[in-house]
This record gives sequence, C-alpha cells and structure tokens, in this order.
Amino acid sequence: MWSQHELCTIMELDLGSDRINILMDTGASQEVTLHNIDILNLDLDDVDLIFLSHGHYDHTGGLMGILMRMNRKVPVLAHPEIFAPKLKALPFLNFIGLPFNRAQVEDAGAVMLEPLEPVALAKNVSTTGEVQRIVPFEKLEGFWTIKDNQYRPDTISDDRALVVNIEGKGLVVITGCSHAGIINTIRHAQRVMGVEELYVVIGGFQRMKSAGLGAQAAVSAFLLIDDRYEYGAFFFLQSRHFWEKRLTLGTSTSQSTIATFLLGLKMQPGWWPPGSCQCRPSRWLWTT
Ligand SMILES: [Zn+2]
Repeated sequence: MWSQHELCTIMELDLGSDRINILMDTGASQEVTLHNIDILNLDLDDVDLIFLSHGHYDHTGGLMGILMRMNRKVPVLAHPEIFAPKLKALPFLNFIGLPFNRAQVEDAGAVMLEPLEPVALAKNVSTTGEVQRIVPFEKLEGFWTIKDNQYRPDTISDDRALVVNIEGKGLVVITGCSHAGIINTIRHAQRVMGVEELYVVIGGFQRMKSAGLGAQAAVSAFLLIDDRYEYGAFFFLQSRHFWEKRLTLGTSTSQSTIATFLLGLKMQPGWWPPGSCQCRPSRWLWTT
C-alpha cells in the first residue's frame, strides 16, 4: 500500500435487513487512493454515498478519480462552504482546499448535497451537520480564507463528522480533522443523536490548539471532564506524532483504549489493535 498525508475510509454498516456503505473522504490524490482501494480489494460499486468531512485537499483530492471509477451518479454530502478558498499561511501562503470546482465534480457524477443541518443516513446513522463550537479552549489558528473579497481567518465551518449509534454500546464518532475541536464534535454528536454514551472516537485530532498542549490533550481533557462512563477507544490518525509524543501511563487500571489508526486497518466494534494503550485518564502524565 502507498501512504501519504490523507484520510479515506469506507464504512460498511449492517442495518439488520439492509446494508449501507459510506465512503468518508477520498484521500489526497486519486493515484494513491485508487491504488490502495485495489490492494484492499474494495469495490466502489458497493459505495452508496460519499461523505466529505471538510474541504481540505488531503480529504478531497481523490474525489475526481473515485467518481470517474464509479462512473455513475452518486450522492456527495458536504457542507455549503466545501468549495470556499482554504489557505494556510505558514510556512508560506499555500492553497489547501478542494482541488476541483463544483462543475467538475458534478460532471463526473457527483450529486452535491450541502445542508447545514445533520442528515440521517439510516436508522442510528447521521452526519453531525455544522458543529457548534462551545468549548472555549478548543481554538483554531493558522487557517485563512477569502470571503467578500477580504482575507480572513478561516474557522473551517465545513468541518463535520459522522456518527453511528450502536445500540447497547453507544456512539461511534468518526471525524476528519476535528478542526471544530474534538470535544465540540463529540458533544455535538451526542446532542444530534440524543445519546450520551460514547463508545469509540476515530479520527484526526490534529491542528487543535487545546490549552496549548495539542491533540492528545483534547482527548485527555474530554475524558477528565466526563469520566462517568467507560469508553471503548480513541483512535488517532497521526501515528508518528502520537508515538513520538505519546502519553506515559501512570496506572494499569483499564478504562479507555488509545490506539493509532493505521493505513489499511480494518476495524470492527470491540476489536482494538495490539499495542494500544489501556489507561485511566485521570492518571495520565504528559511527555513531550
Ligand atoms: Zn483539515
């Protein structure tokens, strides 16, 4: 398999009498994404719809290649700001947005659906819609856009997540980058689904400046302020970053599992990869 900085996942959801397959994000380039799809023996004919977590290139760059391979009309769920200019100013001004325009993706078969609100995709399966940003310390910095002819900080309002309620277990929240903040996203998913229990969080928690400590601090903070439940697992996308700046565990008491979300990983609820850490967050110590 080929790796690059990106996210592309396929979710196969068994609804009992029916199934739904959701392609969430499309990676950064069609060459890498289609190569890996072939290596994993995944069939895009089985995909019912595409969900784009937000408009950054590393989540959308493979879209055209996927649409052309599918060669049919397919619903693409996204936020209304998905095509807005997305820029990063450091180390120099750089365009990091969706590398295609609306006409191109629609010509390739995309049926663009862009509601602000949550969309129920099936029973117990929903998009979060635009995420309310409530937690004061989940700040976003370093992103820019152009709106009304003005160069402005980009709040990346298009950042959203998918959420599945597994009855008897709780919510599975799957994020893209969590630019809206991982705690904000989890809280929003809980409100949308009307369910508090959280089972698994999968996604990128990067680029969050959480109390100055970064992504892992966001998860730690969430667990610390909400330790009423036994959580299943938190999966990070950035494995190298995670393992280089991993948490030191001060106890062997098991409460939640922390693991990296690796290239080509096939997961199902209840299975956590070897090497994951089981820990009690109130005893965590930081190493940097
Ligand atoms: Zn992003």
